[in-house]
Amino acid sequence: MANIFYENDVNRAAIADRKVAVLGYGSQGHAHALNLKESGIDVCVGLRDGSSSAAKASEAGLTVRSLADASAWADVIMILLPDTEQAAVYEEHIAPNLNAGDAVAFAHGFNIRFDLINPPDDVDVIMVAPKGPGHLVRRTYVEGGGVPCLIAVEQDPSGGGRDLALAYADGLGGARAGVIETTFTEECETDLFGEQVVLCGGLTELVRSAFDTLVDAGYQPEICYFECLHEVKLIVDLMYEQGIAGMRYSVSDTAEYGDLTRGPRVIDDHVRETMKAILGEIQSGQFAEEWVAESRSGRENFKRLEDAGHEHRVEKVGSRLREMMPWISAGRVSVQEASGGQG
Ligand code: NAD
Ligand code: MG
Repeated sequence: MANIFYENDVNRAAIADRKVAVLGYGSQGHAHALNLKESGIDVCVGLRDGSSSAAKASEAGLTVRSLADASAWADVIMILLPDTEQAAVYEEHIAPNLNAGDAVAFAHGFNIRFDLINPPDDVDVIMVAPKGPGHLVRRTYVEGGGVPCLIAVEQDPSGGGRDLALAYADGLGGARAGVIETTFTEECETDLFGEQVVLCGGLTELVRSAFDTLVDAGYQPEICYFECLHEVKLIVDLMYEQGIAGMRYSVSDTAEYGDLTRGPRVIDDHVRETMKAILGEIQSGQFAEEWVAESRSGRENFKRLEDAGHEHRVEKVGSRLREMMPWISAGRVSVQEASGGQG
């Protein structure tokens, strides 16, 4: 079982005399900077020159510096830039400004796990990863709560890395909910696997395959959209609130019998073998290498696949049907809001 820490376990002195630079003011960046500041921690925001976020951060009462100046000023540098941009920013702006005893912090293990960033031996390397998007990290904090956080220590020459990570998570509000200890390897590999196999890749392809099967069999696309995509939320909400058993309790007996007898035929041994192969590609570094190369070479394949996705008929029928349900867009967190804005 995992180690879980709460507010009583936090040594607040571990961060009280530190200076924290939050690099980036996107989804995670704005939430980290504001929550830490309101927790009484000495924080500044580091942004690239000409960043459109500078005005927003200043208006929120935060001190804004260049990426290099923020890194020089701080002794804890939290890197909240897109994972594919971090290594270049690290080389140019952070590494030249690191001193012995500083800490470099991440909210995802990718760059450390796959050796894209290699901080010097006299610098602590820690992770504080809220298990939720930035707007939720911010909103729950303002409401007096917090989002559970993962912490990890990769490199700990000071001996204080874990205390620092825990105190930082506490500053985000995370210790009000619970802070779970992990490693960079575990966080990174499970995160990639989850998004590839279930959350993003698995789910979208399951929905599209089922939709295509019905439409090709002659059923009306509108009906198929409701059955294969729209109602996913209903079931996911039940699982989120009550687990799989709770969801099964809430659906009809007919639905449950179909679930129990047909589910394992869809996700069969062949699919489980494929999952193992995909996990192997993550563990070996093959996926990271492929994605970094794709990103550095202009993302041609990525954009082609993304465009092809937009052309799928489930998108056409979906946008029409969602217009019939204005409450969906009314309650929606816009993509812009969820990502905290760019710049
Ligand atoms: P984001 O895209 O919302 O924000 C990134 C920020 O970096 C933006 O302010 C952007 O303008 C800036 N930026 C982009 N390229 C830059 C560059 N080359 N130089 C300087 N600044 C640049 O990213 P995010 O979702 O906040 O992710 C940040 C980190 O947090 C990542 O490591 C991610 O894996 C991790 N994380 C994200 C979430 C989430 O739900 N979004 C959850 C947990 C962890
Ligand atoms: Mg994730």
